[in-house]
Amino acid sequence: MADRSVGALIVGGGAAGAACAEGLREGDFGGDVLLVGREPDPPYERPPASKGYLAGTQERDACLFHDAAWYAKRSIELAPRTSVMRLDTGARTATLSTKEVVEFGVALVATGANVRRLRVDGAQLQGIHYLRALANADAIRADALEAGRVVLIGGSYIACEVAATLTALGRRCTMVMLEEAPLSAHFGPTAGEFFGGLLSEHGVELVCGDGLERLEGSDRVERVVCASGRRLEADMVVMGTGVMPDVMLARAAGLELGESGGVACSADLETSVRGIWAAGDMCEFDSVLHGRRVRIEHHEVARAQGAAVAVAMLGTRRPYSEVPYFWTDLSDWCTAEWVGVTEAPEREIVRGSVQDGKFSVLHLAGGRLVAALSVGRDDDLAHARRLIASATDLSGREAELAGGDLDAL
Ligand SMILES: Cc1cc2nc3c(=O)[nH]c(=O)nc-3n(C[C@H](O)[C@H](O)[C@H](O)COP(=O)(O)OP(=O)(O)OC[C@H]3O[C@@H](n4cnc5c(N)ncnc54)[C@H](O)[C@@H]3O)c2cc1C
Repeated sequence: MADRSVGALIVGGGAAGAACAEGLREGDFGGDVLLVGREPDPPYERPPASKGYLAGTQERDACLFHDAAWYAKRSIELAPRTSVMRLDTGARTATLSTKEVVEFGVALVATGANVRRLRVDGAQLQGIHYLRALANADAIRADALEAGRVVLIGGSYIACEVAATLTALGRRCTMVMLEEAPLSAHFGPTAGEFFGGLLSEHGVELVCGDGLERLEGSDRVERVVCASGRRLEADMVVMGTGVMPDVMLARAAGLELGESGGVACSADLETSVRGIWAAGDMCEFDSVLHGRRVRIEHHEVARAQGAAVAVAMLGTRRPYSEVPYFWTDLSDWCTAEWVGVTEAPEREIVRGSVQDGKFSVLHLAGGRLVAALSVGRDDDLAHARRLIASATDLSGREAELAGGDLDAL
């Protein structure tokens, strides 16, 4: 027996969950909306946790999508510090960590992702950090204010952004990565070379093509030992080693999972159970845009998917087809924007000047544009978005793509 009943249950107070709640009220959803989230704060943006919030230039409140009063005014009930422990898809009930059992009409599961923890010797030492929540950023900042030497493990955007932020705060940062250049796994080799140069120029030491073997120290980490045998003195270590979709609840509820470990969803983001949707980092959906099932870990995608689920809950079903967008800031040194999905491109075409730090890189596969990176070339980004969305056949148009007016394509 349920203790009470709500029209819409949203599991997960992150970017996707918050956007869904907003969308339901904007669309005049008639029923009660309950948003259950583990964290103590109302839903907030994670990107500042490696940028302005970590740097100390952005207040905690400025990271919130809205304050608690905003939700109260719209009759969105927030249940912070609360987990959904069990989802019964047959009875359509959720059991909360408060023991309350809530019956729901429709539900969104937006449980996000957890950091991928490396199990190496020394992993339990003090001074080793992962970054997902504001509380992690608080701990990193507090430690960094005492630390001289910081080692970052990983070559993706979390390690790069944290290295840039802490370098700007005066720390000595060294990055250890398997890739030959930072951000190259996501953005490709040309961009990797540019970001490698930029980080080096600002004093970040790069150890590329090497991995973490173990961490050494007595109570606290003192040293990073790389697979090559190289030893790096460290007062603290930040792990930027990726994330895994959090499907604990979904798996236990019997929702079908996909190949990348997310929750398998239809083109309109519905899970294998009717009336239960997924969105954000853990949503693996049949993408009409990509012609295959994809899972995307970007802030704006989580927001857009949460909003799309609200529209579906309100009765309008349509495939989710927005072109993915991502950005990254390396301190105030550089902002890079990206549209599309990372896949091994058959060809990269560079527009503008990498040397001058104003360029874009177009990624082509099968005669089509699949992704584009822009540093300071907004027009290119807008055209790239259009060309990706329309799946325009660009075979034989390489010269125009490299030097011509993208308007004409
Ligand atoms: C430091 C950092 C910087 C980033 N920077 C960028 C950036 O510059 N650009 C960009 O595009 N993306 C960035 N991202 C990625 C972006 O933040 C994520 O893609 C986005 O947060 C995903 O939103 P989500 O709603 O799917 O998941 P989340 O934001 O992870 O929210 C999921 C929430 O669900 C909660 N939860 C899980 N299980 C339960 C349960 N059973 N009951 C209740 N609650 C539960 C979790 O605790 C979590 O709070 C960054 C991420 C981090 C960590």
